[in-house]
Amino acid sequence: MRIFEEMESEVRGYIRSFPAVFDTARGSEMFDERGNRYIDFFAGAGTLNYGHNNPAISQALIDYLQNDGIVHGLDKATVAKKVFLQKLADTIFAPRNLEYKVQFTGPTGTNAVETALKLARMVKQRSNVIAFTNAYHGLSMGSLAITGNSFYRDESYGVRHNSAFVPYDGYFGQDVNTIDYLRRFLMDQSSGIDLPAAIIVETVQGEGGIHVASDAWLRELESLCREFDILLVLDDIQMGNGRTGTFFSFERAGITPDMVTVSKSIGAGLPLSLLLMRPELDQWKPGEHTGTFRGNNLAFVAATKALEYWDTPDFAEGVRHKGEIFRESLQAIVDKHPAINGELRGVGMVWGIEFADPGFAGAVSEEAFKQGLVIETAGANGQVLKFLPALTMDEAIITEGLAIIEKSIEAVLE
Ligand code: PMP
Repeated sequence: MRIFEEMESEVRGYIRSFPAVFDTARGSEMFDERGNRYIDFFAGAGTLNYGHNNPAISQALIDYLQNDGIVHGLDKATVAKKVFLQKLADTIFAPRNLEYKVQFTGPTGTNAVETALKLARMVKQRSNVIAFTNAYHGLSMGSLAITGNSFYRDESYGVRHNSAFVPYDGYFGQDVNTIDYLRRFLMDQSSGIDLPAAIIVETVQGEGGIHVASDAWLRELESLCREFDILLVLDDIQMGNGRTGTFFSFERAGITPDMVTVSKSIGAGLPLSLLLMRPELDQWKPGEHTGTFRGNNLAFVAATKALEYWDTPDFAEGVRHKGEIFRESLQAIVDKHPAINGELRGVGMVWGIEFADPGFAGAVSEEAFKQGLVIETAGANGQVLKFLPALTMDEAIITEGLAIIEKSIEAVLE
């Protein structure tokens, strides 16, 4: 660890939560340089929905490299990009009747969010953007302005211009419809909230602590956007790619966002981010919003292979089935230990347990790591233990991992 402490910036984070030097990984297992094994309930913050070194995806990459496939091509046309776009059109868009144009926005999630913010403002010629309490959209200057948690934000950054936060679904409990508040704000010229170019939303707030918006709320949000001529930007960076049991997380609500940000698992672990937009919103001038790493051909190869999981309904069904195992087992753990006063929330294969004591989740994560399991916390104060396993995780490892969680909770309670 000494070299990291000496050379790596103090900003390093996960290295502190998981103090091991990782070396190899396969599926949902990771191994450190000493050969210790860890079960992975974190899946690279949601980038590894198809597991570490998925054999089919690795093989596709090996084949591509062996044939001298172009690795870096700026945003030039390449065969790998063509094949990816075709696969996305056939496997994902067509069966869902979606018509989106695809912009390659860069390697990481925040690149897609920045692009959406610029495009929405340009198209609507309004600068305000509305986001929700507990939202997390990234940490570069634009996306930081619409990320709730002030931990990430120094006053000196000056990023809070032209953005406003309004309460997410459930923020005031289940009886308060926060869309009614929003409508009232938009109709009242004294509310201090200007008509926005866009409203950006996660269907389940991941970093914010696993808050699940209801289908009805999402539908009302969509209607409100139509009513006021506001663009609905859906940030599916963490909850997309099957995490919630359907390819796009918004499918369950039957809504059609104007723009969708996609990243994390779309590249099956390789860096890739996309902005999907209704075709008429594509009002960029050629080259107006560009950058060097727009379109990583290795990521296209991995992404194309990964999308094969969506050729049949089986994969999504498996995700929902395994999600039920998590729900039932975690609810049983919560019920068995009233002392933790836990609340379980989630959908598909993303779950969170919020504990009454805000330090408890961190202590469980630390203990679980000692017992050979990687799991992160979420929420404003890290008060939620967050389950984000690979969607390909097999049931035996799920059982083994959940047993470590239960033992860790018991150890922390003692
Ligand atoms: N949006 C959401 C919903 C996210 O969960 C994240 C990452 N946790 C981001 C945006 C930012 O992505 P990145 O860290 O790749 O910039």
